[in-house]
Amino acid sequence: MAQLVVDIGGRPGLDCRGFCRYCYFRHAKEVPPFGCRHCPPFRKGCDHCSRSVQERYPGFLDLRAIADDTLARLQVLEGDLSRVTISGGGDPSCYPRFRELVELLAGMEAPLHIGYTSGKGFDDPEIAQFLVDHGLAELSFTVFAADPRLRKKWMHDPTPKASLSILERLCGEIDVYAAAVVLPGVNDGEVLVRTCEWLEERGAKGLILMRFANRAENGLILGNAPLIPGQRQHTVEEFRDLVTDLASQFRMRISGTPLADPGLGSPFAILQEPDLLATLPRVQRRATVITGSVAAPFVKRVLDACGDGSGVVAVEKDIADLITIDDLKDLDPAELEQAVILPGRAFVHEPEAQEVLRADGTERIVIRGPDTLTADGETSMGMAREDVLAMELEGFAALIRLINQFGRVL
Ligand code: SF4
Repeated sequence: MAQLVVDIGGRPGLDCRGFCRYCYFRHAKEVPPFGCRHCPPFRKGCDHCSRSVQERYPGFLDLRAIADDTLARLQVLEGDLSRVTISGGGDPSCYPRFRELVELLAGMEAPLHIGYTSGKGFDDPEIAQFLVDHGLAELSFTVFAADPRLRKKWMHDPTPKASLSILERLCGEIDVYAAAVVLPGVNDGEVLVRTCEWLEERGAKGLILMRFANRAENGLILGNAPLIPGQRQHTVEEFRDLVTDLASQFRMRISGTPLADPGLGSPFAILQEPDLLATLPRVQRRATVITGSVAAPFVKRVLDACGDGSGVVAVEKDIADLITIDDLKDLDPAELEQAVILPGRAFVHEPEAQEVLRADGTERIVIRGPDTLTADGETSMGMAREDVLAMELEGFAALIRLINQFGRVL
């Protein structure tokens, strides 16, 4: 079975009918390349950590270019096509020739997915039936709130009632996963409960809640913090409790990012599975494992269960994937082992990290660890618990092998 992702290009905010007030990319500055796992060792900066992470596309791609690219990739695809996903930096609902695009992709006769839309570009409720008639099987739709006035104010949706009416019709016909960035005092509390009720009554499969980020340590790495001066945000613990409480009140699945997916007991569901933990390799050497502040206590508990997890160090950044060289500069190298393992997806160039981490005069080996150790609430929404556990087993086994290969003999 093969899947095809159709990239339509576009820029967040600019190809979304204007920025939502809470958009991660609002006020984003053009920053120098971060360095990442895709960069060659001799050069800091590649397409991924310069253009792609900043979603610096020139605009939506021309329909003809999308059609040619799709056709070319279809010809080299092995196996039956099981799903076609529309994705891009801009919002698919704002794509100028959206109906033609859908008609084109419907011709492939595979279920169609829209990876993400805010619905801001949809003005005519009839589009819902058009999408169903053309094979749309699943979509992720930013609801923000079921109150159209809040959508208008915070998302700048010019036709919020039409967008909600489309969402309503799709909920009754296909698999809809709604999403909302949650801002305290804006769309949490009673507003959020009413949004959950609205979605559940209409048949949404799930709701993914995202904690609003307003500070650099929350992951705003594009020089754009604060997004909304003075806007409060939930602590990680407050947010986890909010998600857990809501998930217990509704039948539809509710998960949150960074924490948690109560239906699956993830992230780090493996901590509730002692038999699986026992199948991981034992930690036999000592290295420093650097990670984000949210994951650190979990990673330490897993490594402790495998022998010795005392080398886990959290930086001042919530999410491991968004660690940059600045976070490493804040560490005291003297407290690190000679082998340092970075998160696989950290935005750091290894030679630069090596330079920074030898500030105390000790040479250190910097190794890039596995890409993922678990699935966050956004990733796990469409997954079964077994899939999350398999992902965690694979990630931790790879991490422990690295510790045992490069670490200091105990
Ligand atoms: S629709 Fe999404 S990408 Fe576009 S401005 Fe809003 S949050 Fe940003």
